[in-house]
Amino acid sequence: MDLGIRGKRALVCAASKGLGRGCAEALAAEGVDLVINARGQEALSKTAEDIAQRHGVSVEAVAADITTEDGRAAVLDVAGQIDILVNNAGGPPPGNWRDWSRDDFIKALDANLLTAVALMQACVPGMIDRGWGRVVNITSAAVRSPIPILGLSNTARTGLTGFVAGMSRDVAKHGVIVNNILPGLHATDRADNLDGGAAKAEGITKEEARARRQAGIPVGRYGSAMDFGAACAFLCSQQAQFIVGQNLLVDGGTLNVTM
Ligand code: NAP
Repeated sequence: MDLGIRGKRALVCAASKGLGRGCAEALAAEGVDLVINARGQEALSKTAEDIAQRHGVSVEAVAADITTEDGRAAVLDVAGQIDILVNNAGGPPPGNWRDWSRDDFIKALDANLLTAVALMQACVPGMIDRGWGRVVNITSAAVRSPIPILGLSNTARTGLTGFVAGMSRDVAKHGVIVNNILPGLHATDRADNLDGGAAKAEGITKEEARARRQAGIPVGRYGSAMDFGAACAFLCSQQAQFIVGQNLLVDGGTLNVTM
């Protein structure tokens, strides 16, 4: 299916690896020019070169911490006028609800709620003026089904979900479509770290921890970055113009609910 977005320009945040990279790849495969971001310059430059070479699109790379005001300013400066925004950042660390301080919450809210809000505030008015735009926020399956050790994530991402529920309906009449994608378990560095944490907590090997977590996924494996990217590209497509303010769960069927 031609997604009808060839020649559009996208900003994909936190995209040198993992799910962000999967989204960047899937958009590039549709002919979308990219600005990608991550903190580490080396991996980011390698990813940018690789995507540009394989898909024949323009890929600009901005090394910056997207969760800081300066970082966002640097990224937005290069991005300029964009048609598509994919919001992403690293997730908060795991822990126990008894231990999290006010500062821990502020960091999580900054990274996984306020950064996405700031980038939408910066980019969506231009999309409205031009009468076309797509925003995808990468949140988490934890929005539908909380993960106790990731309470900081549960809290921040639920806040973003509430913001998007209202804001997406305000901008839809201008051709700007805003949705969230909720990843379940995907094979990325983040999942690998969490497997390591679970292994330590349960006194088992990382492989055993992974096997246990995989057993809870009806598809029988972790998702891949490309699985995730495909969903993102669709929500950025022309065809997605009547899908507004939704929370698409991409979890291989893990959440056991009827609706
Ligand atoms: P990942 O494999 O660790 O990749 C994270 C990417 O984001 C890297 O390119 C990293 O590069 C970049 N990044 C991290 N913090 C950044 C920052 N402050 N500013 C700019 N770039 C940043 O993580 P992932 O698995 O793709 O996860 C992406 C998001 O989805 C996270 O918020 C995660 O919590 C959430 N999520 C993931 C899963 C899963 O199973 N993978 C499930 C649910 C939710 P640098 O380190 O160089 O900056």
